[in-house]
Amino acid sequence: MGTMDLYEILGVRRGAGGGEIRRAYRRLARRYHPDLNPGDREAQARYAQITRAFETLNDPERRRAYDAGVLLEPTEPAPSYGFEGFDFSVQASVGAEASTFGELFADVLTRTLGGQEGPQRGAHLHATVSISLAEALTGAERQVPLTRHVACRVCLGRGAVQAAACDCPACGGTGRVRSSRGHMVFARPCERCGGSGQLSWVTCRSCGGQGVEVRGETVAVAVPPGIADGAELRVPGGGHAGRRGGERGDLFVRVQVEPHPLFRREGPDLHLVLPVAVHEAALGARVEVPTLEGPVLLRVPPGTQSGQRLRLRGRGLPAPRQGTRGDLLAEVKLVLPSPLDERAKELLREFARIHHEDVRREWWAAVDAPRRFD
Ligand SMILES: [Zn+2]
Ligand SMILES: [Zn+2]
Repeated sequence: MGTMDLYEILGVRRGAGGGEIRRAYRRLARRYHPDLNPGDREAQARYAQITRAFETLNDPERRRAYDAGVLLEPTEPAPSYGFEGFDFSVQASVGAEASTFGELFADVLTRTLGGQEGPQRGAHLHATVSISLAEALTGAERQVPLTRHVACRVCLGRGAVQAAACDCPACGGTGRVRSSRGHMVFARPCERCGGSGQLSWVTCRSCGGQGVEVRGETVAVAVPPGIADGAELRVPGGGHAGRRGGERGDLFVRVQVEPHPLFRREGPDLHLVLPVAVHEAALGARVEVPTLEGPVLLRVPPGTQSGQRLRLRGRGLPAPRQGTRGDLLAEVKLVLPSPLDERAKELLREFARIHHEDVRREWWAAVDAPRRFD
């Protein structure tokens, strides 16, 4: 484990209470559990470290000893749980927490204590894809790379392969197993072979009886038109295969819609700043405006003011629930010609001479105050 501080490993204060330590452990265990990170050695090492830190800090006696500088080993070996012989001894020390703990890993953990185990649903998987705004209009398809559990090719996911009847290895063919407590010796029927002493199915060696193997695959995900940024798509059965023929988990794909340099999205509507020349705004014009489907002509009416919004109906994004499309709203931004040549300046002076409108008159009417320099 190295010399790293156990409190640091769990990310808690030295004086942290039991509840805080258990919460920190559960949070980290959810993230690093090997079954949730198949093939990831770093997650596996991290998980072992977290679990050992938790075992010590969750046991008041061992925690006191650790605080005093002594690291005690657990006094009795705990039963083993999990996948690939993963030591899940922590279950023994959590006592009252056990039900919460079982819930935590209900979909990924298997108790591997000998007996026959039923099918188990595979865990869910999560992924993120990115699409452009234009693809949010049309919809898109993405190939999502995944490392996931798939059904074992050798046993077709059953975890066992059919064999000629042979002696059960757990009881040596006797059908009974013996255990002792103190001076008493008990014999009970063997769970593995149901007391028959014979097995006609044997554990699949390829997958260790789990019925699954880890494989890198890509899954095609269809992103529907009009999807919102951050929306999550569910692909039923796209997650991990279940153990021993259990149902597959689902794949959840979060969709990020990349920002566009021109268009800003507001629900199904798109917003655009439209630069308009002074003469176009004053006299009216037809101007070319980009849309996600190419340029269209937009009429700028005579006398258009800066800040005015011109609407192009149906040029926004699909609104899937309504079955309609949003609009494209172009906000007019007046742009003065620059630089102004002598001839243009002369024309503007001429314009000022014939046009006396006071553009700030409404201000002064609103505050009802006389103007000083009138
Ligand atoms: Zn197998
Ligand atoms: Zn047996």
